[in-house]
Amino acid sequence: MVNMHIPFVNLSRFYSKHKEQILELTDNIGQSGAYILGDVVEEFERDFADFCGVNHAISVGNGTDALALSLTALNVGKGDEVIIPANSFISTAGAVIEAGATPICADVEKDQNISLESVKKAISKKTKAIIVVHLNGNPARIDEIIREFKNTNIKIIEDAAQSIGAEVKGKKTGSFGNCGCFSLHPLKNFHMFGDAGMVITNSFETAKKVKILRNHGLINRDTCEIFSRNSRLDALQASYGKYLLPYLDEWTDRVIEIAEYYNEQFIGYFYTPKTRPSTKSVFHNYVIQTSERNELSDFLKQRGIETKVHYPIPICHQPAWKKQSLPSAVIPIVERQKDEILSLPIYAELTDAEIEYIAKSVITFFNEKNLYREAV
Ligand SMILES: *Cc1c(COP(=O)(O)O)cnc(C)c1O
Repeated sequence: MVNMHIPFVNLSRFYSKHKEQILELTDNIGQSGAYILGDVVEEFERDFADFCGVNHAISVGNGTDALALSLTALNVGKGDEVIIPANSFISTAGAVIEAGATPICADVEKDQNISLESVKKAISKKTKAIIVVHLNGNPARIDEIIREFKNTNIKIIEDAAQSIGAEVKGKKTGSFGNCGCFSLHPLKNFHMFGDAGMVITNSFETAKKVKILRNHGLINRDTCEIFSRNSRLDALQASYGKYLLPYLDEWTDRVIEIAEYYNEQFIGYFYTPKTRPSTKSVFHNYVIQTSERNELSDFLKQRGIETKVHYPIPICHQPAWKKQSLPSAVIPIVERQKDEILSLPIYAELTDAEIEYIAKSVITFFNEKNLYREAV
């Protein structure tokens, strides 16, 4: 077999497919003279809200701000505890700290999403919110979590940074909680050409608060109601987003096709990603779990295939967590998974030849080691 070179992401391949339109949009914005917020941003927000099936979408500077400003808008701050899964991207915790609250880590299930049992154990009198992360684009048990805390004052925020377009019973992730938060960073499954983020909500009041918070706390040109930050979206990114959004379903379909192909090829070798009934995963990452993780990753590297680990260090083991003496947590599943998870390349621009090469290489590794039916 001839070695191929397959990077974990290939943004330049993506760019070259849309280059003409991107250059034209850039020129349009340049000529318009309106570079921050404005009509294009509002149009993109409208389209994004429609795509998610909610009343309001408020653009912000990035996904972390989306989370932090949502917490502040929902009156979560100093003295409050916010439960998060221990295996998310570090920014889920960073946003809680930025909002002035204390993050509390919960454990996850086999599918890497937050465990309702573990959340229940982490609840205290100070619990003011839960951030449910749909990790790897695979919907968490958001409907069950909403049901569980319906008659309490606990707010539910969805971190849908990896799950744009994913669904539970036909409803988009992000649209279940008090707020849904998205990152449109270049490494997400729907992305701009720079940093960008979005908050969605059905509450007019919450939408209004986030809008004020993203713009220095100003309620008009000169009057500041609450001190806040600058987290506005610029017109360039919004114009790219507005142009790219109609393509999203097509890319997602292709990514799901690749995931299904991998799943079929790998049956019997190791744990492959599972989606719960009546849910649609968008496979932001395709994460397998095997005790041979490190060796497999080295083997694939030799064959020119780049892999990653999302994420190797649980949030409550980070130096920053310890420095602030934040509460420790019991997270046996996260602890085990951190040594067994491996993300294989998955994106719409991969060719059939490339995905076949990836699958064959993985299978070759296990067959050479006689590890068929290691653990399913
Ligand atoms: C990327 C990501 C974020 C943060 O988004 P940024 O736009 O990088 O600030 C938050 N949560 C999760 C789960 C993410 O993957």
